[in-house]
Amino acid sequence: MVNSMIIPITVPFPKEWGRGDSTHSYLIKRELTILIDAGLDSVDNRTYLRRTLKDLDGLNIDYILVTHGHLDHFGLAGYLQRETGAEILVHELDGPALKDYTKAISWYDEVYDFAVEGGYEPQELEKIRSKLLIAIEMMHCPDTFRTFRELELDLGGCTLKSLALPGHTPGSVGYAFGESIFSGDVAIEGSTVIGEFRQEMNSLQKLKSFKNVFTGHRKTPLTITDIESLETHFVNRLEQVLRTVRGGMKLREVVNSIYGEIPEEIFIRSIIPIRQTLSYLKYLEEEGYVVKKGPLWIAVKESL
Ligand SMILES: [Zn+2]
Repeated sequence: MVNSMIIPITVPFPKEWGRGDSTHSYLIKRELTILIDAGLDSVDNRTYLRRTLKDLDGLNIDYILVTHGHLDHFGLAGYLQRETGAEILVHELDGPALKDYTKAISWYDEVYDFAVEGGYEPQELEKIRSKLLIAIEMMHCPDTFRTFRELELDLGGCTLKSLALPGHTPGSVGYAFGESIFSGDVAIEGSTVIGEFRQEMNSLQKLKSFKNVFTGHRKTPLTITDIESLETHFVNRLEQVLRTVRGGMKLREVVNSIYGEIPEEIFIRSIIPIRQTLSYLKYLEEEGYVVKKGPLWIAVKESL
């Protein structure tokens, strides 16, 4: 019943991003018309999304709900707001990214020092940064948006509620609607980018009370079984990282041993594995499994 009101719209990544990926948006048409997330901003995507929404009789949007402050989820929100007058809503912890797009890649700065110390050349990292900045320059900030800590919208006989799901970003939320939830990038089939490991695992736990988990990328919706496989994947990875650093290793060597050498043209992928590996290592360090001595990460326990 609720599902029949949910219309997925897949917005491709622009060519500049160098991979054939895409972002899922969802149109919900009830008493209110709601769009969950709006993909990356580009000239082509503006035309595409506007035309698609028009065909679905969905241009009378009341709210654009953003799952988290990443460019591939709120990029087109500012454009759509100007076209439709919709109000943009985002959790307060991810709000800063919508005001200043460079904040959407603040994670880059968090990774940078560790990466240089861990054996990456500053020039290589700068190359990745400038490609990320190209994507940002194509975009325009929303004129206005509203932040919330908790959100509840009455959609006529059914309430849509926010659920805090930190881990991918601090302000990641899901929007729960009946047995379904729109969860952005908290869960993606196979793997997802982890900002903070402990929070991510707690958020995955919360997702298991929903029948349909509508994701931001790839397979959608995910089932409870898919979420469980994701949990297993992360725990296995954590163990793999722990085994890998048994004799002490620099970050770059750990990344290569876990992910293999990464082709340069897939630029976004070449920094995400560094970030991901760092999330595992920081968690292992906090939990007392690993210590860091200078550039070396060293396991001090055999297994988890
Ligand atoms: Zn994301």
